Amino acid sequence: MPGTFTHQFDTPTYKGTVSVNLGLFINGEFVDPVDHETIEVINPATGKVITSIAGGSAKDIDIAVNAAKKAYKAAWGLKTPGSVRGKLLNKLADLLEEHIDELAALEALNTGKTFATAKAADITGAIKTFRYFAGWADKVHGKTIETTDQKFAYTRHEPFGVVGQIIPWNFPIVMLAWKLAPALATGNVSILKPSEITPLTALKVAGFINEAGFPPGVVNIVNGYGSKAGQAISEHLGISKVAFTGSTLTGRKILKAAAESNLKVVTLELGGKSPTIIFDDADLEQAVKWASHGIFFNMGQVCTAGSRIFVQEGVYDAFLQKFTAVAKFLETAAGDQFTPTTKHGPQVSSGQFDRVMSYIGSGKAEGATVHAGGERLGTNGYFVQPTIFTDVTKDMKIVQEEIFGPVGVVLKFKTEEEVIEAANDTTYGLAAHIFTQNISRAIRVTNALEAGSTFVNCALTSETSVPFGGYKQSGIGRELGEYALDTYTQVKGVHINIGLNL
Ligand code: NAD
Repeated sequence: MPGTFTHQFDTPTYKGTVSVNLGLFINGEFVDPVDHETIEVINPATGKVITSIAGGSAKDIDIAVNAAKKAYKAAWGLKTPGSVRGKLLNKLADLLEEHIDELAALEALNTGKTFATAKAADITGAIKTFRYFAGWADKVHGKTIETTDQKFAYTRHEPFGVVGQIIPWNFPIVMLAWKLAPALATGNVSILKPSEITPLTALKVAGFINEAGFPPGVVNIVNGYGSKAGQAISEHLGISKVAFTGSTLTGRKILKAAAESNLKVVTLELGGKSPTIIFDDADLEQAVKWASHGIFFNMGQVCTAGSRIFVQEGVYDAFLQKFTAVAKFLETAAGDQFTPTTKHGPQVSSGQFDRVMSYIGSGKAEGATVHAGGERLGTNGYFVQPTIFTDVTKDMKIVQEEIFGPVGVVLKFKTEEEVIEAANDTTYGLAAHIFTQNISRAIRVTNALEAGSTFVNCALTSETSVPFGGYKQSGIGRELGEYALDTYTQVKGVHINIGLNL
């Protein structure tokens, strides 16, 4: 069965040996899955198998839930003071920091993003998240509510107990941190299922859980396919809340499974088709840089990607020319995760590659103009050219649906009213980006946009302290910031009679 994966990196950007245990991490131990299933993990830059991990099923989820329940009763929840929970989260952050290069190398190898980006953005972001919520762990408390002089009440913010957490492959360790950190800070115990496509950094983190001092069973990391381990989490009667990030389709399945099992609380962070709006008065150089970052960063595999780019007519030609130059440059800077000059990597999997290429095909078939890119890049791995479509209409699939690849559609607009209507003409509502030098317009337009996160003169600059989540079909609930504490606690009102006689 799985055992350990050891990889010797001898690359221009990282040299070193990294080991990870490939089993399921349940009750503080790495174990084999009951059904002995394994799942291959692929390097998307080459399409070659890296290793095989253990794949859990409903039976393993059941074992993990029982371990978690015991841990919650015996040693966690409100039995462990918040200050202690915070200390353990900080210790985990210290361990991630000590092993930052190994984690970055694993994340790069498994996802196709560069080592430099994995280190500076992903692992650093995860560490920041653990530290941020460590700080909140002893600051979660209720209120006293005076009713009459005969009676008062107070509220308690209590953990749910066992929570299930299902995460995607685009930012594996960041998503793990966004889920585990607030759950543990508020006193919950977790069964976390990474994406079967990108399980390696989660397994490395699992290896630090005991050393950080978490009692066995408080954190369980159970890999497996969505249809098996993921579905089992959504249906399990012993799980009181499930938090999910991924596709809208899977979000619906989870909500349905929760409704038909025990009505567990569900929070969802789903897809998007976010607008980037560039007004005539924008700082054009900056707008081009941010808009390019907004759609091409992480090869477009970002839920808040600015994939519909609306440009006001006065700067349309100038914008398009500069934006195209960025796409062409990125194409020349495509490459391996560990090459220092790489700025553009592969899509994460063959499935994602096929999906993106099929959307590009649909854009061409529906009559849009391929202004840049539009083809596979190279012959190895899952690389796609940074692609720009123009001459698009609002009913085209590439304008309506989330592509999750380096594919932007550019649309020309005349007036503020017109662009607000067009930007909101989507079933999604995750993010929106506005570029203007006019403060009144910036505020007026962000107020009118139906999106959970709005960015003025920037893109993809989420902060650990600012709530994140979707309007409309982009999700339910908020992650990050103080708001995340609410989604991991349930409030109890306690009524105290100090003199009211019947
Ligand atoms: P997905 O939603 O299928 O996978 C996300 C997670 O859900 C994985 O851990 C997966 O194993 C799990 N899962 C799958 N089916 C499940 C089920 N029935 N019950 C419980 N869990 C289940 O996403 P995907 O197939 O990997 O990617 C498809 C599309 O999803 C992408 O192209 C993109 O549009 C979108 N996506 C969005 C995000 C985001 O951050 N919003 C992240 C990844 C993917």
